[in-house]
Amino acid sequence: MANLVYDKFRNKLVELAHIQTVLAVLDWDMSVNMPAKAAEMRGHTVSYYVGLLHEKFLAKDFVQMLVQLKKQADSGKLSEKQKAVVLETYKEYEKEKKLPAEFVQKLSQATTEAHHAWINARKKSDFKLFAPHLEKIVRLKRQQAKFWGFKQSPYDPLLDICEPNLTSEDCSIIFDELKKFLIPFLQKIKKSKVKIDPKMITGDFPRDKQEAFNNFVISKLGFDLTAGRVDVSAHPFATGFSPNDVRITTRYKQDNLLDSLTGVMHESGHGMYEQGLDAAQFGTPLGSAMWLGIHESQSRLWENLVGRSKFAWKYFYPKLQKEFPKPFGKVKLEEFYRVLNQVHPSLIRVEADEVTYNLHIIIRFEIEKELIEGTIEVADLPQIWNQKYENYLGVKVPSDALGVLQDVHWSAGLIGYFPSYTLGNLYSAQLFAAALKKIPNLAKRFEKGDFSALKKWLNTSIHRYGRLYSTERLVRQATGEPLNIGYYTSYLKAKYSEIYKLT
Ligand code: ZN
Repeated sequence: MANLVYDKFRNKLVELAHIQTVLAVLDWDMSVNMPAKAAEMRGHTVSYYVGLLHEKFLAKDFVQMLVQLKKQADSGKLSEKQKAVVLETYKEYEKEKKLPAEFVQKLSQATTEAHHAWINARKKSDFKLFAPHLEKIVRLKRQQAKFWGFKQSPYDPLLDICEPNLTSEDCSIIFDELKKFLIPFLQKIKKSKVKIDPKMITGDFPRDKQEAFNNFVISKLGFDLTAGRVDVSAHPFATGFSPNDVRITTRYKQDNLLDSLTGVMHESGHGMYEQGLDAAQFGTPLGSAMWLGIHESQSRLWENLVGRSKFAWKYFYPKLQKEFPKPFGKVKLEEFYRVLNQVHPSLIRVEADEVTYNLHIIIRFEIEKELIEGTIEVADLPQIWNQKYENYLGVKVPSDALGVLQDVHWSAGLIGYFPSYTLGNLYSAQLFAAALKKIPNLAKRFEKGDFSALKKWLNTSIHRYGRLYSTERLVRQATGEPLNIGYYTSYLKAKYSEIYKLT
């Protein structure tokens, strides 16, 4: 039966999505192309479109339709898909409605100022220059949590924006279990007699040659370069304007090609998710990717489970050796594989390997949860941070710049964001284990350079649904069970016990 209100509502959502696309293109352009002097005017243009989007989203006739459809959804008058579209949009509306305009303005101003202060503080490696700004942001985020409401922890509603329905208590349980495995496992690896020398794969790699090889690898994996582009930016990212227009970025190091290569494998995982969305659902939540953890599971799966596997490199390595005989001609696949997967506890999150990465995230989660709950003070952060780095990773933090000031997130008001990185890793291993069961001879296929069956499986198990289901249901449907961290720990154990010859 035709539902005229729903149809009209859906058309409005598409209209809003066009404005969002304009904003996404402007944002991509800012990171990739824009000359420095353009920043101020671009800021005005972006503000104009953000305002327009906000105005249209809260326009009376749009809200009336949304409220009417919400009633229809609650009384079972909508199809499953319509219901998902309406409820997702309603949730977003409620979040916006609960925040007074004055508060939004205050938060936006505080983050702009904090960002500048953070850049300066990091440059001078002095946390005290950033502390008053972070204090202000923490106060505002607590206030935001109050506006949105919560049952147990004020951290819950902040986490909910990135991972709907996951509470900080759930998160603590998952992370504590993971920590119990990771810390002793890392100790074992540190004691291993296997020594890996990353210098054996450094060399001189012209940018255009790296670019050509990167493109070869990601097209093999399944990123469609006729529906996407790769550009250069200071911080790599992926963004999708529509399934046929997905942009990813990378950066190049002249002496080490792994940095850019593993980076594009990661971003192309995000990109393939965006390319796999249902174009017919453009503008609705069914045509949008899931929240952060699932998005990150796609990038991690391609970067790590595939991109750092021996099977994939049995195919790619001879090609790499041919393109770059110096230094790879003299390096055996086995040696290359070990360098690719070297475990090295370090200070910087974005440079971390698979084993230590999640400890960086757990530290941030523990700190920001306590900050929001008010059980620790901003002023004590450097000391708390450094202590945790010593306890978990066994490294001494020599300066604030290499410690508590390294990430941009808190200055941007992103508190509750970090856990998704680790959840992505956990989901990636669980999804990959399911794919191994569902797809015959997956490893053999990789060795022959055939990654299409895996991509197809992800298309049909994850991508094409958009936000039709909750994360929990999507994962259960694809893998047969809810999140189970055992897949990730078993994966790490098997892989790194072999590399480091652990007993
Ligand atoms: Zn990512």
